[in-house]
Amino acid sequence: MERNDTHRDKLDLERIRVLYSNARFSVAGVFVSALFFSLFLWYSVEPLIWGVWLAVILAINLPRLLLVEAFHRKLRHEQIAAGKTLIWERLFFVGVLLSALSWGAVSLFPFRGDPTLSLVYAALFLIAMSSASIVTLITSLTMGLTFLSAAVLPLAARCLLAQEWSLLILALACLTYYVIFIQMACRLHYAIIDNITLKLENEELSLKDALTGLWNRRQLYLFIEQLQSRFGRSGETFSLILMDLDHFKQYNDSMGHNAGDELLVRVAEIIQQESRDEDLAVRYGGEEFLVVLPRAGVRQASQVAERIRSRVAHQTGGSLSAGIVGYRHEEGFEKMVARADEALYAAKSQGRNQVIAYANGGEVA
Ligand code: GH3
Ligand code: MG
Ligand code: MG
Repeated sequence: MERNDTHRDKLDLERIRVLYSNARFSVAGVFVSALFFSLFLWYSVEPLIWGVWLAVILAINLPRLLLVEAFHRKLRHEQIAAGKTLIWERLFFVGVLLSALSWGAVSLFPFRGDPTLSLVYAALFLIAMSSASIVTLITSLTMGLTFLSAAVLPLAARCLLAQEWSLLILALACLTYYVIFIQMACRLHYAIIDNITLKLENEELSLKDALTGLWNRRQLYLFIEQLQSRFGRSGETFSLILMDLDHFKQYNDSMGHNAGDELLVRVAEIIQQESRDEDLAVRYGGEEFLVVLPRAGVRQASQVAERIRSRVAHQTGGSLSAGIVGYRHEEGFEKMVARADEALYAAKSQGRNQVIAYANGGEVA
């Protein structure tokens, strides 16, 4: 669930999502480039070499297309969680590496006759491919640089070793582009990562309460939507704890509004410490808090609420009352909160600083 994802995991998910969405174009681009490249230099190389090379291009890139489709299918079905994306990046990297090597191998082709012109054409293709790869692989710098190095450096080396002026100039041109592309790739990569980070931070800020750092109602409704579709399928359940500080108006009046704010922050800390990683703790209103506990029954939720109540009563200058309910099949969330509110009201009217749970219409604690 979103609540537990670290920034790093979310960033990786977004990076890899961009990588795979570019991949459809980049793999299609490889097929087109291989076709044009072989047509262009058809008479400069033995047909058998073309046959083997094109077969290798197909054998490497068809599985890449399947991998890309598999990723998109899983993403559509929400089966790719943040924190579980690195395997997809590794698989993609294997494809990029093999593809880069297959293009690097072009430099080893025994060109017929005078190879100079063939090498110039090959260099043009490889530099164009490298610049495209930098753009399409920009969210993964290692991959972009791997492609660039494997495609350009072997060709530059062959030209250098040829001991011919025109090829020496070509080698220098390749190496110059190589350095320029590395510079551009690094700058662009970090700019894009900064942008994604900013976007994720903004998203998170818009879902949090500024005073306590707890989640706000917007995140609550997103969370509940996910929860209900997940639990609707699996038949699992969840519980709610609704809490309200006792006589908080009085506390504000006697201690001052700032002290009231500090109490809210302290209570929020306690709630966060006592809830599990998969729970969602929300500042529901001014001095009302709500915790959603997936896969927890009313009894388990009552134990959590009791720990919170007790710590607030002993460790802060205030106290709180809590109402607890469990999910009933097909019950809407509003209705569930209304029942939790009834339980909370009962806790208030029975003297405050206590926890009351409702299960199947009756009080259980
Ligand atoms: P009860 O035990 O019945 O819940 O009484 P109460 O005084 O807690 O309830 P009431 O609804 O009368 O008062 C809630 C108070 O919470 C009034 C409001 O000023 C205060 N409050 C709401 N939001 C904030 C906030 O962000 N900071 C501070 N310091 N006070 C707040
Ligand atoms: Mg209130
Ligand atoms: Mg109150």
